[in-house]
Amino acid sequence: MNKTTRKALDTFMDGLVKRNPGEPEFHQAVQEVAESVMPFMAAHKDYADMSILERMTEPDRIVIFRVCWEADDGTIRTNRAWRVQFNNSIGPYKGGLRFHPSVNQSVLKFLGFEQTFKNALTGLPMGGGKGGSNFDPKGKSDREVMRFCQSMMTELCRHIGADTDVPAGDIGVGAREIGYLFGQYKRVRNEFTGVLTGKGLTFGGSLGRTEATGYGVVYFVENMLQRIGEDFQGKTALVSGSGNVAIYCAEKLLQLGGRAVTLSDSTGFIHDAEGFDQDKLDFLKDLKFERRGRIQEYTKVYKKAKFHAGKRPWAVKADMAFPCATQNELDAADAKKLIANGVNVIAEGANMPCTLEAQHLFRDNGSLYAPAKASNAGGVAVSGLEQSQNAMRINWTREEVDGRLQDIMRGIHDQCVEHGAAKRGKAVDYVGGANVGGFVKVASAMHAYGVV
Ligand code: NDP
Repeated sequence: MNKTTRKALDTFMDGLVKRNPGEPEFHQAVQEVAESVMPFMAAHKDYADMSILERMTEPDRIVIFRVCWEADDGTIRTNRAWRVQFNNSIGPYKGGLRFHPSVNQSVLKFLGFEQTFKNALTGLPMGGGKGGSNFDPKGKSDREVMRFCQSMMTELCRHIGADTDVPAGDIGVGAREIGYLFGQYKRVRNEFTGVLTGKGLTFGGSLGRTEATGYGVVYFVENMLQRIGEDFQGKTALVSGSGNVAIYCAEKLLQLGGRAVTLSDSTGFIHDAEGFDQDKLDFLKDLKFERRGRIQEYTKVYKKAKFHAGKRPWAVKADMAFPCATQNELDAADAKKLIANGVNVIAEGANMPCTLEAQHLFRDNGSLYAPAKASNAGGVAVSGLEQSQNAMRINWTREEVDGRLQDIMRGIHDQCVEHGAAKRGKAVDYVGGANVGGFVKVASAMHAYGVV
């Protein structure tokens, strides 16, 4: 980046930080995109003249509301909920709902901003949005979760719709929560439409949606490896998290000849040097998805595996790393360990799991580094396919959905190569490629609309 562009970037970021005080996650997400997009804009003056980046970093609107619900013991509880409708230039707002005590406006703005670029990369007509609540589903009974979801949807249903805004799941929002949310939407609005994705298979859900994000990350890396004449055979992987993304990432790695040797949750990580085979993954699915237990329980059944309380898996030796838990779970110190251990492939399953410093270290090292907005787009892509099936009132087979997912992940990979290869010779800059690829699509639409 030349001096003039660096100065323009610093001025832009200073303004953004002033306009959005106390929102570090949002600043971080914008900084990452601006670092790639500002040099591109310097060569394409049209976008700069139309203040596209300034407009793109301001959400269309944010709805904030109170959610009251009654606990099993009769006490009244109050939570806060948000829906950030970030950008609908290329389609209805689309993005998940997160239920976690750490949810706040900064986190949801960063997620909604990222989602805008990710959705554009899929090639499907989806804008970007995100929502959620500081409600913590952990330790709540099913009935408590149901009452919370019903109360939340009673307000949320005024702001969403199949052609307006289509939420999905995210951390803390899985099949159970989507069922309760959809049931309440249907009751209040008297409509059976594709207003939420991630629905159960008997009421409009798509085969393959549950697995799509984790499988998609691995398909993306398969494309990266193929490009340099390699594959997964015999390769080991560090995977963090043990939720929807992590478990299906480990499963697809197994199917393609690799193996995950770690998984984690918010209490620590497990290391199974033999790797997770299908029986072990089925045990983990039951433990985490059905019984909602802690990951340490795995080591009571599989005794050769070790549990490391309160730690993250990045110091373990392996060939690849897939951070699939949450934002900023891999920092500069972790990145240095990974590089020193020869881990040359890092693919983000979670949203923004690597800090900016870690990301710079991987890029400077020439690692094969796949940023979330490209590598974890498989989930929202199959959500888009769920919307199409709902609109046509048909269901595709699992093979058909999986085939489309593979095509979409290949398409995203190829856009990254197209936009990220130019200046760096052989080393593909997947971060720059994803940012510019997503930006061009959204920016072109905004350009066409004039000043709106
Ligand atoms: P889940 O709720 O299914 O699982 C989240 C996992 O991460 C759990 O193992 C959880 O541990 C762990 N975790 C959550 N917060 C923390 C934390 N603060 N510190 C340590 N561990 C934590 O979520 P998903 O798998 O759906 O989502 C994971 C990531 O992937 C998120 O960044 C999400 O935005 C992203 N993503 C998800 C998509 C999807 O389709 N589901 C699509 C695209 C991105 P515990 O069990 O202890 O809570």
